[in-house]
Amino acid sequence: MASVEIQNIEKHYGGFHALRDINLTIDEGEFAVMVGPSGCGKSTLLKTIAGLETVSSGRLLIKGRDVTKEEPGDRGIAMVFQSYALYPHMTVAENMGFGLRMAKRPKAEIDAAVARAAAILRLEEQLDKRPKQLSGGQRQRVAIGRAITRAPEVFLFDEPLSNLDAALRTQMRVELSTLHAQLGSTMIYVTHDQVEAMTMASRIVVLNRGRIEQVGAPLALYNNPANLFVAGFLGAPRMNFVTGKVVEADGRGARIACAGGLTVAFDDLTEPLAIGDAVTVGIRPEKLHLDDAAAAATFPAQVRLTEYLGRETIVYADAGALTATDSDSGTGAFTIQIGDIKPFQAGAPVSIGFDARDAYLFHPDGRTLTALKPVARI
Ligand code: ATP
Repeated sequence: MASVEIQNIEKHYGGFHALRDINLTIDEGEFAVMVGPSGCGKSTLLKTIAGLETVSSGRLLIKGRDVTKEEPGDRGIAMVFQSYALYPHMTVAENMGFGLRMAKRPKAEIDAAVARAAAILRLEEQLDKRPKQLSGGQRQRVAIGRAITRAPEVFLFDEPLSNLDAALRTQMRVELSTLHAQLGSTMIYVTHDQVEAMTMASRIVVLNRGRIEQVGAPLALYNNPANLFVAGFLGAPRMNFVTGKVVEADGRGARIACAGGLTVAFDDLTEPLAIGDAVTVGIRPEKLHLDDAAAAATFPAQVRLTEYLGRETIVYADAGALTATDSDSGTGAFTIQIGDIKPFQAGAPVSIGFDARDAYLFHPDGRTLTALKPVARI
């Protein structure tokens, strides 16, 4: 059953068009993560669902009920912010029970709801403390507890982990996923961090410049990005891109010539191309191999820098006239990810190779042209 339906929503701030024809249905019990670069409109979209922003046009339904013009308090949602927004003079228990107290619920009901939330969030020992006596992670759990006690139809999270250090963020990611499994509630979560999106979402919504670029399960989006933007946004390190021109075109096949003499042949395109079309070839860092004699397409390069990450090696390598556009290093160097520790000295000549079946081809307007790649079933 649909939990949240967003229909043709537009938002203008004066002359600025912040949300453009947003259509999205989020099912009951889903963990939907809205992700995109700074300024793409994700917080604005979340605030329109919460009722903290009005929409310029369009409709919003929660559990089939049109709430477009309803006040935030009447929508059956609870929101958790990045800045916790706890009351410093109240104890943890008072903070968590605040919403129910405002709703004038009986004390016994409030106490029971606070005790239940504290047990779920492992805050039983902290109930009499004030927020300043808690760690960042504990404060964030209290903010989540305050949402849980209200038993909302929908939880909304606005970058709730971005104030935490890296170790605590990882821990809270696991806790939030566990909480979602326990409660089975609909959760809508906003982040600019694609790792949070990949790890927590049942479905990811990628936003860019006020528009939805693609919606889908994390692995489906990773393996089959609809366009160049999604391909570049999801995945760390980023996908490598090189520009090229179509030199042979035959039905669903095409041969692409890139700088430095590299050519890549595709035989499964979703639409025909014409000779001379300017296209972009993309290949993920984990699909590039170094010094692999069996690789189908290869090109010479020189190691610029190697990073050893304990269980994997990231190599940045320059390939002369063949440059990676919009790369992680920002220098035109290719990024190669090896699932092993292998030494590569700076300046060493290497051969970069890949299988064309692992590559993506993008239309001049950014659309993906390669046929869908298989996605692991989970
Ligand atoms: P971030 O990750 O940086 O928070 P975001 O994707 O959440 O980014 P929004 O806060 O939704 O971005 O803002 C989207 C765009 O709308 C931005 O360009 C922002 O400058 C603009 N915007 C947001 N609020 C207002 C406002 N009250 N008046 C005018 N413009 C606004």
